[in-house]
Amino acid sequence: MTSRVRIILVFCVSILLLLIVGFYSFNLTNKYRTSYEWVRNSEQIISEAHELSINLNEIESGQRGFVITGNAKYLIPYREASAKIMKNYSDLKRMVGENKQQQILLDSIHSVLVSKVDWINLLIEIRKTKGFRPAEKMVLTNHGEELKQEFRVLVGRFIDNEKASLNQRIHAVQADYDRAIFTIVITILLALIMVSWTLYFFVKDYNRRLHSKKRLLESENRIKKFLEALPVGVFVLNHEGKSYYSNSKANALFGTDLSSETTIEDVDIQDLPEAFQTMKAGTDEVYPTMELPIMRALQGEKNVCVDDLEMKGGGKRIPLRVNATSVTDSKGNIEYAIAVFEDITASREVNKRLEEAKKIAEQAVALQEAFLANVSHEIRTPMNAIVGFTNLLLKGDLSAKEKDYVQTIKSSGENLMRIINDILDISKMESGMMLFETQAISIGDVFSSLNAMLAPKIEEKKLTLNFQYSDNIPLTTAGDPTRLTQILLNVLGNAIKFTAKGGIEVFADLVRESKETCEIVFSIYDTGIGIPEDKIDHIFERFKQAESHTTRNYGGTGLGLSIAKQLIELQGGWIKVSSEVGVGSVFTFSIPFKKSVMVHEKKSNSISESEIRKLSEKRILLVEDNPINVKFIQGLFSEYNIDADHAAHGREAVAKLKAKSYDIVLMDIEMPEMNGYKATGVIRNELKSNIPIIAMTANAMAGESEKCLSAGMNADLSKPINEDLLFEKWCVSWQKKPMKFF
Ligand code: ADP
Repeated sequence: MTSRVRIILVFCVSILLLLIVGFYSFNLTNKYRTSYEWVRNSEQIISEAHELSINLNEIESGQRGFVITGNAKYLIPYREASAKIMKNYSDLKRMVGENKQQQILLDSIHSVLVSKVDWINLLIEIRKTKGFRPAEKMVLTNHGEELKQEFRVLVGRFIDNEKASLNQRIHAVQADYDRAIFTIVITILLALIMVSWTLYFFVKDYNRRLHSKKRLLESENRIKKFLEALPVGVFVLNHEGKSYYSNSKANALFGTDLSSETTIEDVDIQDLPEAFQTMKAGTDEVYPTMELPIMRALQGEKNVCVDDLEMKGGGKRIPLRVNATSVTDSKGNIEYAIAVFEDITASREVNKRLEEAKKIAEQAVALQEAFLANVSHEIRTPMNAIVGFTNLLLKGDLSAKEKDYVQTIKSSGENLMRIINDILDISKMESGMMLFETQAISIGDVFSSLNAMLAPKIEEKKLTLNFQYSDNIPLTTAGDPTRLTQILLNVLGNAIKFTAKGGIEVFADLVRESKETCEIVFSIYDTGIGIPEDKIDHIFERFKQAESHTTRNYGGTGLGLSIAKQLIELQGGWIKVSSEVGVGSVFTFSIPFKKSVMVHEKKSNSISESEIRKLSEKRILLVEDNPINVKFIQGLFSEYNIDADHAAHGREAVAKLKAKSYDIVLMDIEMPEMNGYKATGVIRNELKSNIPIIAMTANAMAGESEKCLSAGMNADLSKPINEDLLFEKWCVSWQKKPMKFF
């Protein structure tokens, strides 16, 4: 029950009680008054009865004086008393009212009185007419005395009766008086209790309200303090669009631009944009009032956020970030709109700097990319020549010693190439430029090509190498086969390198499958030297080898596992190792491949001699600026009796293509005068030729292949040129349309 209801209830009960008691007291008082009037009546009756007796005495004494003296002056009191006595009687008759007993007595008194008065009148008449003696004789009959005695007895009895009832009435009055007093006292007490009770509740309720109000005020003040402490401006509008609250930050911010004392609280929201010069960021356009975040919030929009608002203040423009939202009552009606705004000059400045820093970083990355591309190009070009020419040399007639020297040059070149590739891979991964292709992968094919690749080394070291995969491995999955081969080569290469006897087992198993992916775990077991426990955690770190003498004894740079790990993790997989020194090691890694929808076609990597022979009938244009490369490729072609025309740069190539018809173009990318991309563009767009163009890139950076294809080339080859790949791509190019061609 609420205190208000309690007070009303107490008040109603009090009023009801007071009414009851009041009614009762009123009745009692009435009764008392009636009783009191009866007492007064009895007293008057008694007094009237006494007066009756006195007047009779007056009559008698007048009669006596006249009888004795015969003087008529005695008849004056007699006559006055006679008149009074009748009035006395009629008054008494009226006063006794309904009292039967007294009425009877009064009737008796009246008849005696009448008899007595008649007798006196007769006596007076006799004295008047007959003189003293007959009158004396009449007196001596004693009849008058007897009547008088009878009158006295009756009046005495009448008075006694009245006195008796007076006594009774006095008692009744006393009792009524006591009761009335008691009731009045009780009523007053009750009224006092009720009033005190109501007052108590009223004061209690008042105190409670006062306390609540105080607490409300305190909490309001506290919230205001919080709002004041905020490092942002807070501005609240009521539903009529009138300012309801603004903290000092808001006032300070909005007040800075004004010469007058006006603050935001005095300004009509409609005039706000002009009054405070709120403008669209970077323009002199006044911010439309209805687009102001607080106005949008007032229309019911929740969580409005803008940062295209500026204020002109103190000769400068202050950029603001404003968040506004509407505040609704329990029925969902908009009561207020609140806007919070902050000066974002500093963060704009920071953003600007960040933007600049980002640009610088991007430039640095671009520089790094360009540097890597250049380095790659510069290193690969001579490497191309070294590896290419050693291959050509090995095909010729050489003595055993010469063959051995050339072979050494070749393997050193290949090692150098591997190191360069590793460093390039790391750079690519570091700068986020490593891209993964999604092609159909057959684990079986990957294993057989690895087997073929590693067979010479395995034979040389007299080891065994077994590849196995579980039956649940899908025929094809989708992923990057080159990167998978690279990872496996790195791990397998180590296993072979660090194993002197025994063998290596490779096992692939499908461990998890979802709608889109299939996770394959590869395990590579070897019976090699093993890795000491304290070194095992560091072998995946860059340039870290288990032992300091590893390079000396086994070669390597400490990059292979680090690259493998990063390649795996970039594809969403993991790698781990367990090893025992002198027993062997197990490297396990997992890659979640995408499910392949393509049917894997087994393709042959090599093309037949007869197919190459057919190529000799084709007219070939070799576009290459580097004379060593030209020499190498022409040397390679001469092996197959293939003739090729040469152009030193793109412009010359275009001129040659205009002058003569060719079947294929081998196009270098980086060339003076006109590079390979530009030359391709001219061939495709100006010459409108769809001649197959194979790019020869010395830049191994990510996206190079895409760049070549989108420039209109049919295929790309990375330097140093692998002759098998060259002829394969060559053949394929005749069947394939260029990507961007007409
Ligand atoms: P490295 O070029 O030296 O092989 P890796 O990053 O591939 O660089 O390997 C790091 C080191 O991990 C190796 O130098 C070797 O000490 C150790 N290691 C890797 N694989 C094996 C293995 N199968 N058996 C023994 N040690 C290994």
